[in-house]
Amino acid sequence: MNKCYIGIDIGSISTKGVVIDENYNIIFSNYIWTEGSPIEAVKKIIDYFKIKLDNNYQVFGIGTTGSARKLIGTLLEANVVKNEITAHAIGTMRIVPNVKTILEIGGQDSKIIFIKDKIITDYSMNTLCAAGTGAFLSSQAKRLGIDIEKFGDIALTAKTPVKIAARCTVFAESDLIHKAQSGYKKEDIIAGLCKSIVNNYLNNVAKGKNILEPIVFQGGVSKNRGVVKYFKEILKKDITVLENGHLMGAYGVAILSKNNNTGKMYDLNIKNIEFKTKGFECKRCPNECEIIRIYKENKLIDSFGSKCGNVS
Ligand code: SF4
Repeated sequence: MNKCYIGIDIGSISTKGVVIDENYNIIFSNYIWTEGSPIEAVKKIIDYFKIKLDNNYQVFGIGTTGSARKLIGTLLEANVVKNEITAHAIGTMRIVPNVKTILEIGGQDSKIIFIKDKIITDYSMNTLCAAGTGAFLSSQAKRLGIDIEKFGDIALTAKTPVKIAARCTVFAESDLIHKAQSGYKKEDIIAGLCKSIVNNYLNNVAKGKNILEPIVFQGGVSKNRGVVKYFKEILKKDITVLENGHLMGAYGVAILSKNNNTGKMYDLNIKNIEFKTKGFECKRCPNECEIIRIYKENKLIDSFGSKCGNVS
């Protein structure tokens, strides 16, 4: 029987899972929407892997990362539970060993990670401003009646991208409506939006940072060829987009679970553990986040919903 290791990245928008073999190759992967229920999302991924692994593989390690990593780590008795920054860096370094900068734009947040001699030297994250994320692009694609999958390719056909105020979602949205009503071409507006995502990212997440090559761009938005084009154009640097870039968090924790495995075998039956869930609305700032806290035997083991990360 072959040995394998599972990595799961549970985000607020999507949940990703990978299985790797002894040589760190991804042999199976799965990607589904979290839809507010991380436990259900992970159950679906585990069920999918059970079928794929069949009797040919035995799981020797499970790693979790992402916003619900502690909860899911408890349920699966994971041998590794790691934050997203470390997980992404480990996964990316396995594929591009000399990477110096990782740009990441996901569904609801964006981050930048700096690496020197295989060590993370700096990073920053943006979870508050939606104007530079995949969720913003998706909502604008819907508004323009365009399939998000085609967004990037349409942007590449633009001759004169429209300038769109990128400072925040509200400004960008009203500017977009104004430009659409003023008769600008759709492809020029779409290209303008892609460019605004890049400008927003560089002015917020990457502000004042020295972006050194090799640069890897990942996260769901890296699939958008328009955004890739403007990153290259504005930075005047080469950018690598990995085919499995959206899976790097899951891949990173799968690697860590392999490297830290104790020889324990996993049966992939999700433990039937009793949890208590309590929700409240944080009033410390105008975001008014809905925080959900998960308790096991009266001990807080995880929480979700905070946009700033300062409230658990
Ligand atoms: S958790 Fe509270 S303080 Fe943090 S962003 Fe949300 S509302 Fe503001």
